[in-house]
Amino acid sequence: MELGKIISRIDSFRDEMIDFQIQLCAIPAIAPSSGGEGEAQKAEVLLDHLKKNGFSRVEVIKAPDLDAPTDYRPNILARYEGKNSSKTIWIMTHMDIVPPGELAQWKGDPFKAWVEGGKIYGRGVEDNQQDMVASLYAVKAFREEGLKPNYDIGIALVADEETGSEKGIDYVLKHSNAFRKQDLIIVPDAGNEEGTMIEVAEKSLLWLKFRTEGKQAHGSTPEKGINSFKAASFLVTELNKLYNVFPDKDALFDPPISTFEPTKKESNVPNINTIPGEDVFYMDNRILPRYTVDEVIKAINTMTAKIEKEFKVKITLEETQKAPAAPPTSSDAPVVLALKSAIQDIYKKEGKATGIGGGTVAALFRRAQFEAACWAKLDETAHQPNEYCIIDNMMGDAKVFAHIFLQE
Ligand SMILES: [Zn+2]
Repeated sequence: MELGKIISRIDSFRDEMIDFQIQLCAIPAIAPSSGGEGEAQKAEVLLDHLKKNGFSRVEVIKAPDLDAPTDYRPNILARYEGKNSSKTIWIMTHMDIVPPGELAQWKGDPFKAWVEGGKIYGRGVEDNQQDMVASLYAVKAFREEGLKPNYDIGIALVADEETGSEKGIDYVLKHSNAFRKQDLIIVPDAGNEEGTMIEVAEKSLLWLKFRTEGKQAHGSTPEKGINSFKAASFLVTELNKLYNVFPDKDALFDPPISTFEPTKKESNVPNINTIPGEDVFYMDNRILPRYTVDEVIKAINTMTAKIEKEFKVKITLEETQKAPAAPPTSSDAPVVLALKSAIQDIYKKEGKATGIGGGTVAALFRRAQFEAACWAKLDETAHQPNEYCIIDNMMGDAKVFAHIFLQE
């Protein structure tokens, strides 16, 4: 009953794990571009933990960053030896945190973590320390039980996740060949309250700005002008037809369809009695990977051309953001099956491979042809005031990781 022993051992670490959370929280690893000093100090504490806990190979990949006091951003790759080195089970978490935001909205000091009602409160305690600490103590349980995991374990502690990963996992993937095709890569940085969501795919993202130019005139003589707002409004209803042009459903995703929504609207004339000569609105499109972003743009161009002709306006389209979806991790990839089996045994719930509309850092692995999956049991309080980590989630996730380390 190796799993039973490991689980009791993890339970015995409860207070130590809470203390480690509090210690990490006191070192705010905020990106220099968000007004902080980066992850170097936090990395020192983590390196110390890795050294004391039997990790055989610990490397620090330094991404240059002249805005950081140390001139670099640290990325740690630590290996713990298993019975067999033919594959590595990787768990990647990020060291950086987002700023606390308005302090008045916090019940306490965001960097002096406190425990209340089974939760630890503080900036970074859920995103991403909950599973960072869980992964480190899952490994520690093997060491203290004198048990070897079946395969090597890799703990990746990266920088710069919150501001684009350029100096984080993106840099690591470009400057290291630590990851292999057969490795299992788990990124516990997305999830749901039940711990059932295994994120494997994402939609393409396309943000557009529409500028419609007509001709300004007095409100009483619309025939002397061209009402840009009216033309843009017809365009909005025309664009709603994108739902019919790209109607496919994919049950992997929630929601299962591509979405095409007008969102932000810039103000036009300040007074009621002027026909507006210019109108600007934006659109947020989330496109299922089966459609290309370019075919959607082509369809949109046909719609704008129709409105231009009908209303004699000029419409210019600007791509504010365009991020084609990474190739999805398949729903029966080894990493997904390993997570499902562990979630079933530890949380008594059925894990489900899911696609989401927003991007995760796992996409960087997928673009580099690795089948990574995002999973954690989370309340999703990340980036909010009074961010918290449910202590039982931290403990449970550690057991899920340990379960995977014991799988054949
Ligand atoms: Zn995160």
